[in-house]
Amino acid sequence: MDEQRMLEIDRRHLWHPYTSTINPLPVYPVERAEGVRLYLKDGRELIDGMSSWWAAVHGYNHPRLNEALTRQLGQMAHVMFGGITHEPAVELAEELLSLLPQALECIFYADSGSVAVEVALKMALQYQQSLGQGQRHRIATLRNGYHGDTWHAMSVCDPETGMHGLFGGALPVQHFLPRPSSRFGGEWHPEDMKPLEELLEQYAGEIAALILEPVVQGAGGMYFYHPRYLVEARRLCREAGVLLIFDEIATGFGRTGKLFAMEHAGVLPDIICLGKALTGGYMTLSACVTTREVADTICSGEAGCFMHGPTFMGNPLACAVATASLRLLKESPWQERVGNIERILTEELSPLSRLGSVAEVRVLGAIGVVEMREPVNMGALQARFVEAGIWVRPFGRLVYLMPPFVIGETDLRTLASRLVHILEELDR
Ligand code: PMP
Repeated sequence: MDEQRMLEIDRRHLWHPYTSTINPLPVYPVERAEGVRLYLKDGRELIDGMSSWWAAVHGYNHPRLNEALTRQLGQMAHVMFGGITHEPAVELAEELLSLLPQALECIFYADSGSVAVEVALKMALQYQQSLGQGQRHRIATLRNGYHGDTWHAMSVCDPETGMHGLFGGALPVQHFLPRPSSRFGGEWHPEDMKPLEELLEQYAGEIAALILEPVVQGAGGMYFYHPRYLVEARRLCREAGVLLIFDEIATGFGRTGKLFAMEHAGVLPDIICLGKALTGGYMTLSACVTTREVADTICSGEAGCFMHGPTFMGNPLACAVATASLRLLKESPWQERVGNIERILTEELSPLSRLGSVAEVRVLGAIGVVEMREPVNMGALQARFVEAGIWVRPFGRLVYLMPPFVIGETDLRTLASRLVHILEELDR
């Protein structure tokens, strides 16, 4: 298709994430992607710094993942999951069980990250109902969190940067706690637990669950906090009969240097939400995994089952590519790769902290964040990055890199140093 015509139709008819139809920001036509490169229709190539929002950990157009998909396509693309099972769903279950702690053993496949969060919250409510605690229908969460764009997921996103202002009273009212002030790698401040202690003392009787992103808060601020918070939260929730839900949709599968971010704290949630990198970024699929106790309690209640069952549940294509992706991850030296990315990003990005326009530089695992003092002009900055041959999408005051794990040292240093150069120029 002619590029101009394509852009014209896109501009007139297509909505992009968080984009105006009246005055949309430019979009860049990508023709194909391979390894850590995106190839634009006009012939330019960009080094990928985003992994397509945490997902494409193995890079693009991977032969093993392509092969898994085409093999499955020859069998069946989809078949309903009600009353039917299939090898892709069961094989993926085996892979997930082999990676997760033993206690997390009952798997519910869902369509996307946001839906996994809806499912987890619904599980928590049904669990409490089964225990005769139906009045426990509120959810506690941390400020600066992000859990997705659907209704209840939205209700637990940060009340200021999220969509509470917009939808006001239409959203369920939840309990928000300050994010822990103790930083990852820094000193632990026991007073960080006070707000949760006080909340549970006063309101435990109406709270079904506490949901949070362990260690790394993503889209709500790219903030890294002390794992000890999770240890203490685990204890307090257990004492109060409140379920603990870890949203590892962004952090799962190695991104923070551990397979799951909860491993930094060595604690287990009652429910974990997984997504994004689950399929190596190939297609949408998520999973909510819980304990036998939670699953069986839900199913011993009035409904006799968990009340959820999406049309595309356990989609065979998605499960097949997810299985291949997890096997690939297990076979790869991912921990060494993420460690190298952490070291190189630290070396390359740290000098930015001297700039007057930069508030802080922080790196954890394969995540490098430059927090600016003022919000950036996303359109203009994005254009500069593309001109420089790198794909980086900043938002608000955050410019960040989370490249595919397979990125080589030369590409990573090029990616980071071009970003540094542009931010230095901007500072002048
Ligand atoms: N939870 C977290 C922590 C996320 O980062 C995201 C996506 N950015 C979601 C939930 C929602 O996932 P999805 O966009 O697949 O609905």
